Amino acid sequence: MSQTPATVNELTQTLDGRVAIITGASRGIGKAIAIELGRRGAAVAICARTQEALEAISGELQGMQIPFLAQPCDVRNAGSVADFVNSTLERFNGRLDIVVNNAGIYKTSPVENHPLGLWTEVIETNLTGAMLFCRAVLPAMKSRNFGRIINIASISGRTGEIWASAYSASKFAMIGLTQSLALETARHGITVNAVCPGWVATEMSKQQLEDENWCKLNSMSPESAASNACFAVPQNRFIEPEEVAHLVAYLAHEQARGITGQSINICGGLSLQ
Ligand code: NDP
Repeated sequence: MSQTPATVNELTQTLDGRVAIITGASRGIGKAIAIELGRRGAAVAICARTQEALEAISGELQGMQIPFLAQPCDVRNAGSVADFVNSTLERFNGRLDIVVNNAGIYKTSPVENHPLGLWTEVIETNLTGAMLFCRAVLPAMKSRNFGRIINIASISGRTGEIWASAYSASKFAMIGLTQSLALETARHGITVNAVCPGWVATEMSKQQLEDENWCKLNSMSPESAASNACFAVPQNRFIEPEEVAHLVAYLAHEQARGITGQSINICGGLSLQ
C-alpha cells in the first residue's frame, strides 16, 4: 500500500497547538526545552522556585512570540504543583498535552554520614516532584486521549554514582516511575519516557565540577575537574542543553507515539565506559 507523503509540518515535527509544562525551566536544560518546544509551535508553561529567574526567560519567550505562562512553583509541594497545573489549564483553555519533569538538584555525601535532610531534599525534588506532576496532569491528558510525559533522569539512573547515592537513587526511581506509568497509560494515548543525559554544560554541572568537596572526594583539583570529566566521555565533550531539547521535542511529537516506557541515553558514549 502506498503511503501518503509526509507534509512539511510532519517533516519539521511541528508541535502547533500543543500545550507543554516544563518544570525547572528558568535555566539550563529546562530553559532549552521550553524554547525548543515553543519554537516548534507549542505554548509553554514554565516554573521554577525563583521569580526573578523566571522573569528573565519570560522576556526571551515574549521576544520569540511564544505563548507562555511563567509562575513560581516548588515541585516538592503538592499544593504548589496543583496550583501550577490549574493555572496552566485556565490559561490555555483546559488543554495540556506535554509535561517535561526536568526540575532537579544534585547533592553529594558519602552514605556513611549522609544527612537525612539532604537525602529527603534530593528525593523529594527529583522523584516526588515528578510523581506529583504526573498525578496532577493525568486527568486532562486522559480526557483528550493524548499525552506526552518526559522525565529528565540521568546516566546516574543507569549505574550508581560514587558519593551521589541520593541523586542516583532518585534517578533510578524516576526510570521505575516512567516504566510503571507507561504501563498504566498505554491505552490512553499517553506515552511516558525518560531521557538520561550524561555531562551537560549547565549551571548544575559547573557547580559540581567547581565544588571543592566533590573534587576532593574524586581526587581531582577544581582546575582540572572539567577536562577530566570531558576526558571520561568518548566524544570528549559536554552535551549542549539544546541537544537534550531536540530529543525531548521528538518524544513529544505525534510521530513518537510508539515509544513508551523507554529510557534514552544522551551522553556522548559515556554509558559505554
Ligand atoms: P540547573 O541547576 O541548571 O537548573 C535546575 C532548574 O530546576 C532550575 O530552573 C531550578 O530553579 C529548578 N528547580 C530546582 N529545584 C526546584 C524545585 N524544588 N521546584 C521547582 N524548580 C526547581 O540544572 P540542569 O539544567 O543541569 O538540570 C536539569 C535536569 O537535568 C535535572 O533534573 C538534572 O538532574 C538533569 N541532569 C543534568 C545533567 C547535567 O550534567 N547538567 C546530567 C544529567 C541529568 P530554582 O532553583 O529557582 O527553583
